[in-house]
Amino acid sequence: MRATVALVVGAGEGRRFGGEVPKQYQELSGQAILRRSLMAFLEHPEVTAVQAVINPGHHDLYKDAVRGLSLPAPVNGGRTRQESVALGLESLAGDPPGCVLIHDAARPLVDPGVVSRVLAALEASPGAVPALAVADTLKRGDGNFVETTVDRSGLWRAQTPQGFRYDDILAAHRKAAGEELTDDAAVAERAGLAVAMVEGAEDNFKVTEPEDLKRAEQTLGGGDIRTGFGFDVHRFGDGDHVTLCGVAIPYGFGLEGHSDADVGLHAVTDALMGAIGAGDIGAHFPPSDPQWKGAPSDVFLRHAGELLAARGGRIGNLDITLICEEPKIGPHREAMTARIADILQISSDRVSVKATTTERLGFTGRGEGIAAQAVATVSL
Ligand code: MG
Repeated sequence: MRATVALVVGAGEGRRFGGEVPKQYQELSGQAILRRSLMAFLEHPEVTAVQAVINPGHHDLYKDAVRGLSLPAPVNGGRTRQESVALGLESLAGDPPGCVLIHDAARPLVDPGVVSRVLAALEASPGAVPALAVADTLKRGDGNFVETTVDRSGLWRAQTPQGFRYDDILAAHRKAAGEELTDDAAVAERAGLAVAMVEGAEDNFKVTEPEDLKRAEQTLGGGDIRTGFGFDVHRFGDGDHVTLCGVAIPYGFGLEGHSDADVGLHAVTDALMGAIGAGDIGAHFPPSDPQWKGAPSDVFLRHAGELLAARGGRIGNLDITLICEEPKIGPHREAMTARIADILQISSDRVSVKATTTERLGFTGRGEGIAAQAVATVSL
């Protein structure tokens, strides 16, 4: 069976939206709008591959936005939406798919049902679009006065993804080159292709105005908010460095433990596991198992992140406190924050690393070891 490729098109300047960052790269509940649109197709079982079409000036933004996703290199778009889609279609010509879904990057809330309905309709028709009936009464006017009421029967609002048999839409786009048609169904109509309509979804709206971003945040909701807590201690022993929050710090002692004894990463791993009721680090990585001897603790933290992702969850924030008299944490805080953010593929403003002493009191005060506490907030 020939492949189904999703072309996600976000090649506009994205400036009309306001703000420093182009619209398609602005964050919607912690992830770039474009990333959410791409993920909707990456996660769809009937989609074989996903290809982004981006503005040639946005490569750095794109790289940040799609970190960790498995995607081919993006295709550079053109001056108009139509030209960008055409370039995207041409990029697939070397290994032509059976069907192509063409989607606006600015519709991040497309649900799997819409995608499935479009694909199902392609079995009987060369093109298919999701559409919604017009509920409001339509008026024609100059903005001040109504001239007339427009009969809304037979009128529909077209959304994306718009699906087509690849060979047909490629030929239609080649024929329509130089025009400025606003969607691909119009390109298909121009070529005389039948375009079926399937039911769209109200939540699959296009983020056009800043208010739309608020609406999208509300639609996603805060989710099911969970908090987890982690605590860990390791004792000083022989060695010449300690590893804390993934960063090796030269010191006159090391920390004893089965793994690399990174108390910071152990505490934050337990906090994440606690937030989703997934047990603790020892249950997943038993100290009795020789394969974890000397293991770098980012393995444990990454696993906790994967458990969270498998539950459809995302990290709100992580707050870690290291408790020791020595070594001094301050000079390494930024590196620790960046390391944790990198392991979990989240932005570093969601991670906080702090340190305190215990005024020379207790085991940390006597310099016998290091303790760490961590709190994780996640939404499912
Ligand atoms: Mg530990």
